[in-house]
Amino acid sequence: MTTGTGDEQVADPVCGMKINKSDAAASTEYQGKTYYFCSQSCADSFKESPEDYV
Ligand SMILES: [Zn+2]
Repeated sequence: MTTGTGDEQVADPVCGMKINKSDAAASTEYQGKTYYFCSQSCADSFKESPEDYV
């Protein structure tokens, strides 16, 4: 088991898919929290209206 950074699992807030932080296609900060996305299109949807996803 690895304990380094980068392989922690998080949920993409747009589509709900579980991804590893190190595999995320994009990430963005919103209200002091970092969100990770499976694809650039999910990140774009989030950036358009983040209040819909948090
Ligand atoms: Zn996604």
